[in-house]
Amino acid sequence: MLLRHTPKEVSERKALTVNPAKTCQPVGAMYAALGVHGCLPHSHGSQGCCSYHRSTLTRHYKDPIMAGTSSFTEGSSVFGGQANLLQALANMFTIYNPDLVAVHTTCLSETIGDDIAQIVKKATDDGKVPEGKKVIYCNTPSYVGSHITGFANMCTGIAKGLAEHTGVAKDQVNILPGWVEPSDMKEMKEIAARLGANIVMFPDTDGVVNTPQTGEFKMYPDGGAKVEDIATAGDSIKTLALGKWASEDCAKYLDASFKVPYEVLDIPYGLSATDRFVQALASAAKVEIPESFIAERGRLVDVISDMSQYLHGKKVALYGDPDQLLPLTEFLLDLDMIPTAIVSGTPGKAFSKRITEMCAEKAPNVKVANGERADMFLLHQWIKNEPVDLLIGNTYGKYIARDEDIPFVRHGFPILDRIGHSYFPTVGYNGGIRLLEKMLGVIMDRQDRDAPETRFELVM
Ligand code: SF4
Repeated sequence: MLLRHTPKEVSERKALTVNPAKTCQPVGAMYAALGVHGCLPHSHGSQGCCSYHRSTLTRHYKDPIMAGTSSFTEGSSVFGGQANLLQALANMFTIYNPDLVAVHTTCLSETIGDDIAQIVKKATDDGKVPEGKKVIYCNTPSYVGSHITGFANMCTGIAKGLAEHTGVAKDQVNILPGWVEPSDMKEMKEIAARLGANIVMFPDTDGVVNTPQTGEFKMYPDGGAKVEDIATAGDSIKTLALGKWASEDCAKYLDASFKVPYEVLDIPYGLSATDRFVQALASAAKVEIPESFIAERGRLVDVISDMSQYLHGKKVALYGDPDQLLPLTEFLLDLDMIPTAIVSGTPGKAFSKRITEMCAEKAPNVKVANGERADMFLLHQWIKNEPVDLLIGNTYGKYIARDEDIPFVRHGFPILDRIGHSYFPTVGYNGGIRLLEKMLGVIMDRQDRDAPETRFELVM
């Protein structure tokens, strides 16, 4: 019992967070910046944050994650980090030769109030940014929101720094994929290609954090959204922003600056959210949905109906990022499963409200919380009070799964102890089949383990 000190009785906590269901902004900004080809993320603060965020991404992807840091000392913490960032930009462009640097901040540089826009202007004026190179930036105070907020802020930073408006309309749709895996971004590009829809997608970490081993280290891998493609985002017909928390701010910026209208959609996990995504993309790009999609959707429906006896009525607890939890919960409801306990460390009132509305008919007793005190400790207590048949979330759930003996599906960020998330998508109809396969796998393994000899089935 690794979590033997978690009591069943839930008492109100005002200040203490235990085992948070979130992390801090800069890691999200770093992940988003990696989704631009030739970009070197840069953490403006002391170097501990940068090491931690690089190492978390490396442990999740099992790939090298590059980033620079301003390496604050006590002096810069008192007198400001301008000199550090100026020196860092000069060093990075000289030694590592990126096409662009994407600067984010930490709680330290935010607390002392460094003006990143002014420092970047000075670096440019002083000739520390070579001709043809760029520095983009955003503010990512760690005491606001979560890693998702940081991802969202860097998406807007990318748009602010790179998107343009030429006045010549382009027959293309912007897709802001939200915080998903590179495999999911690849699947979204393939869905668009099969629909015949022209898209510009950013950020795009496919080919950056899931690179092949060729014997040659590439500091800037082949993948990532190209600067020249992102530049055209101001001329697009429409923006599809996947995930309110990760993508809406950037879509709003593109609308306000370039009059590109936007629609906020859920990340296409499961049947219903994928239906909405495919329809919205086809309608924005003015293309017909080909027959092949009907067949693909039909295969997911077929698996659901083939296996419904194992899913029906199963209670599920889940935790993670709001943009992921919303469509995942909807998928569970579509499967006639019962979400009973849901937590997200990311704040935002719309989350609990939407989950409650979504579950009102089929799972009216769902417990849901998000924000500072919505942590894994609370989730564990809820599970102790109402046991579940399945737990879905990142690697940190393995302690609860082990103590309470619950079948466990890893999904979300970070996954530090399994592979697959970089390579096999869980978005789209095919991704829905993969999600089902993962859930059914652990549920049926449990049935096999617990069945008496007389009920141990060969065919399931
Ligand atoms: S909370 Fe602040 S100090 Fe800690 S890793 Fe995040 S940015 Fe750095």
